[in-house]
Amino acid sequence: MKVLKFGGTSVGTAKRMQALVDLINDGNPKIVVLSAMSGTTNHLVEIAASLFEHNNEKATALINQLENKYKEVIKELYKTVPCLNKAEELIKSHFDYLRMFTIDLFTVNEERTVLAQGELISTALFHYYLEEQNIDSVLLPALNFMRTDQNEEPDMKYIEMNCRTELAKYPNGKLFITQGYICRNSFGEIDNLKRGGSDYSATIIGAAVKAREIEIWTDIDGMHNNDPRIVENTHPISELSFDEAAELAYFGAKILHPTCILPAQMNNIPVRLLNTMQPSAKGTLISSKTTGDSIKAVAAKDGITAINIKSARMLLAYGFLRAVFEIFERYKTPIDMITTSEVAVSLTIDNTKNIDLIVNELKEFCSVEIDTDLTIVCIVGSFTAEKQGYAVSIFEALKNIPIRMISYGGSENNISILVDTKLKKDALVALNNGLF
Ligand code: ASP
Ligand code: MG
Repeated sequence: MKVLKFGGTSVGTAKRMQALVDLINDGNPKIVVLSAMSGTTNHLVEIAASLFEHNNEKATALINQLENKYKEVIKELYKTVPCLNKAEELIKSHFDYLRMFTIDLFTVNEERTVLAQGELISTALFHYYLEEQNIDSVLLPALNFMRTDQNEEPDMKYIEMNCRTELAKYPNGKLFITQGYICRNSFGEIDNLKRGGSDYSATIIGAAVKAREIEIWTDIDGMHNNDPRIVENTHPISELSFDEAAELAYFGAKILHPTCILPAQMNNIPVRLLNTMQPSAKGTLISSKTTGDSIKAVAAKDGITAINIKSARMLLAYGFLRAVFEIFERYKTPIDMITTSEVAVSLTIDNTKNIDLIVNELKEFCSVEIDTDLTIVCIVGSFTAEKQGYAVSIFEALKNIPIRMISYGGSENNISILVDTKLKKDALVALNNGLF
C-alpha cells in the first residue's frame, strides 16, 4: 500500500482534478489524501472570522462567493448530468450548512467544523469524478479514524485500529480517497491538524497502515537547497535524511508540514516529494539513508523574537536555566534557538502569544530585553564533529551580514544563525553564492 497526498493546488481547479486521475489510476493499492482546493481554507478562515465578529452580512457574502466558485468548478468538472446533479446537491448541502452558522451561536467548536468543509468537499467531488470515469474508488471518512489525544498529538493506536477497520470494510478496494487536515479531538469533536496539516495526515495514515512509501505531491519539484521565492538558481535536493528534512521543514522550507516527518521516520517509511505539474521530475526522497557529510540546504524562518536574559545570579549557579525554561514550559511556548554565556542566556521563540506574561515572570529574577522582527537562517546538512571547515565557509559567506546569534553543534544536521529580517534576503543570497 502507498499513501499519496495531493495539496491544494493539485486539486485547485477542475482541470487539475481531472489530471490527477493519470497519477493515481495504475491499479496498485493506494490511499489518496486530498487537501481542500487551494484558497478554500483561507476563505473559510475569513468566514469564521466574520462570524466571530457577528458580521453576518459579510459572512453570508463570503459564503455565497465561495459557493459560486464551486458551482463553476463542478460545471467544468463533470460531463454527465447525474454526476453534476449529485455534485450540485453536495455543494448546496455544505453551503446551506455554513449559512446556518450566520443564525446560530458561533464558537471555536463551530469554527473547526467550518474549517473542515474544504477537505470534505474536495474529496467528495473527486470521488464523484472517479465514478463518472468508471474508476472504482472508496471514500474513507477521515473523521472515522483520524483522532488526536489530550495533548493534541495524533492518537496513533486509535488511528491504526480504526483505519484498519475502515479499510477492512472493502476487501476488494484498491483506491481509497480520504481527507487530509481534518480529525476528531479527544472529545470526539471535529478538529484539524493545524494549517498545512494534510501532509501530516498523509504520514500518520502511512504509519497506521505501514505503507511502503508516502508520496507528497505539490506544485514544486521537491525541496530546494534555498528558498526559490527569494534566491535565483536554486535546485531540488535529490535525497535527504529524515533528520535533515525535519530541520528544513521546521525552519522555513514551506513545502512540508514541520511535524509530518516524524510518523514516517518512526516507521522507517520513505517519503517522496513530487510535483504534479511535472510528474516525471525526480523530486526529493526522504529516508533513513544519510548521504554523508555535506551542506544540503539553507532555509529561513521569519517572525522570530529574541529574549535576552541576564542575571549576575547565574554566575556559578545551577538551577538558573531550569527556572528560565520552566516559565516557557508553563506558557506552552517552544524555544527554537538558545545560546548562553556565564551570566546571560539568549533564546528565540516564534509564538509570542504569552510573551508579556513570560517576561513578567522572568523579570522577577533577571533583566530581560526583547528583540523583534528577526529571522533564523538555518543551514542544514550532515556536520559531523570530526569534519572541519563548515564554520569557515558559512561565516566567510556571511562576512558582510551582522549576526545576532549563532547556534552550532546542537545537532549534527543544523547550524542556525539569527539575523535582522531586513537582512534575510542578503543572507540567503550570500549563502547561496558561498556554499553551493
Ligand atoms: N487545507 C488545509 C490548509 O490549507 C490543510 C492543507 O492543505 O494541508 O491549511
Ligand atoms: Mg501544504
